[in-house]
Amino acid sequence: MSQATETDDVREDGVIDSVSGPVVTATDLDARMNDVVYVGTEGLMGEVIEIEGNRTTIQVYEETSGVGPGEPVENTGEPLSVDLGPGMLDSIYDGVQRPLDVLEEKMGAFLDRGVDAPGIDLEKTWEFEPEVEEGDEVEPGDIVGVVPETVTIDHKVMVPPDYEGGEVVAVESGNFTVEETVVELANGEEVQMRQEWPVREARPASDKMTPTEPLVTGQRVQDGLFPLAKGGTAAIPGPFGSGKTVTQQQLAKWSDADIVVYIGCGERGNEMTEVIEDFPELPDPQTGNPLMARTCLIANTSNMPVAARESCIYTGITIAEFYRDMGYDVALMADSTSRWAEAMREISSRLEEMPGEEGYPAYLAARLSEFYERAGYFENINGTEGSVSAVGAVSPPGGDFSEPVTQNTLRIVKTFWALDADLAERRHFPAINWNESYSLYKNQLDPWFEDNVAADWPDVRQWAVDVLDEEDELQEIVQLVGKDALPDDQQLTLEVARYLREAFLQQNALHDVDTYCPPEKTYRIVTGIKTFHDEAFEALDAGVPVDEIVDIDALPRLNRIGTTPDDEADEFVSEIEDDIESQLRELY
Ligand code: ADP
Repeated sequence: MSQATETDDVREDGVIDSVSGPVVTATDLDARMNDVVYVGTEGLMGEVIEIEGNRTTIQVYEETSGVGPGEPVENTGEPLSVDLGPGMLDSIYDGVQRPLDVLEEKMGAFLDRGVDAPGIDLEKTWEFEPEVEEGDEVEPGDIVGVVPETVTIDHKVMVPPDYEGGEVVAVESGNFTVEETVVELANGEEVQMRQEWPVREARPASDKMTPTEPLVTGQRVQDGLFPLAKGGTAAIPGPFGSGKTVTQQQLAKWSDADIVVYIGCGERGNEMTEVIEDFPELPDPQTGNPLMARTCLIANTSNMPVAARESCIYTGITIAEFYRDMGYDVALMADSTSRWAEAMREISSRLEEMPGEEGYPAYLAARLSEFYERAGYFENINGTEGSVSAVGAVSPPGGDFSEPVTQNTLRIVKTFWALDADLAERRHFPAINWNESYSLYKNQLDPWFEDNVAADWPDVRQWAVDVLDEEDELQEIVQLVGKDALPDDQQLTLEVARYLREAFLQQNALHDVDTYCPPEKTYRIVTGIKTFHDEAFEALDAGVPVDEIVDIDALPRLNRIGTTPDDEADEFVSEIEDDIESQLRELY
């Protein structure tokens, strides 16, 4: 979070009137909405959220116990902003972009109060390689140089969007801190590697386009049945223990985004510790470099102040937009948006606002849609294209999807991965319910899958969907009369569906190979099962009893394709297909 800069206008300090948890009111404070203020003698960071006459309401991002009426409130006159520049990757921030490692150094393991720390290191030098020359004309957003931020990512230094731009009159090259000027313009504007942006405002773009490329997740049920677009929005609702965190982490680890912003919002500390400890150890599957080299983590755990939970989502999406501006595909995960909504609810109730459904503020839906609106596939103002894909976990109490956060999210997002407690209990992972989930991107992404994976990708997917649908209907009958009462062809369909569930939809996140499945392999698994289907129905038509068909010993091997190394999978499936064919033909 940026340190407030001094401004010339004289501003009156206010005085604390009342303190209610994270909400403080002050009188006599000369402030505007969303100004950052320092509250009390300890100078706790807060933000103005309501102004009524002489009374200002502030949400405070730090613990307020011991703060009382009469203490001063100082206004910075600046909106809540993030520091943007090299060094954000490989960082772990709190909800107001204070680097956790720096905080810990300053204060020990117990996060103290009133400590500010810049979001990016102001002393570190970076090697700036210019991409403009004296005499060039640059416009807002234009890329003026590159900095190797991590082993994986080149950080593009851009003219801030709120500059006028103009002729370049001086360019530097070499090692500089983020505050030193690297490019100077004729109108006196100076470009540094660092810029600030108010978190509650979307960064500008030229155009929001229809996404046509998938965010390849390496997760079969997602890529295969419910794909997410680069620049798309998705929600993962699910009860406790159904796999929300694992699913989000799988996306953070394996999706083919250039940059990942992972927001741990209000979840328990130990889950976030897992992420913080795990991620720095893990290699990036695309480059072999550390995963953190493309990742920015924002951690606001359940024991941290509730108002900073409200802000962490904005901090995260603003950082995501900044990398999008450089032309990168960014994937943002928020775990969990329910905890974010609960923070809104708590603050709203302290403000004594008129509660909406289940006590959530009436603006819940608006806030959720403003957040997801900032995702998209964009043409940036510098002409590059970049995307922000936003994936929010939702934790409905008791797994009841009819509650307000799930319902409002459903109206906004276009991909819905519904996690299911029953599936999780049966150890069917990922526990994404294929009957309830959907993706509205399917059709617009089909051309990509046809060109890049297989021309009949949509047909093969539809075939699998039809079989699973039929299974769903047959299951109702099976519950009543038992499987043996079904005619042979329906029994066979159930067997095909079982392989679809076990070999295609199930995927073990904890298995070295199975954890990531390229779309080519996903396709091959489904076509392998389809071969079984086609051959088996031929055998059935030729009079072979269903019991004998499903008993051939080639079949169980279908369930081992997922754990077969990617470069051997195609041959392995071909062998199974050959065996299925020969073993079945022996029966008639
Ligand atoms: P939630 O965040 O919804 O409470 P988690 O993501 O922590 O649930 O998942 C609970 C447990 O379920 C995990 O510890 C893991 O054992 C299991 N699990 C979830 N998804 C998978 C998966 N794709 N593969 C293997 N195990 C999984």
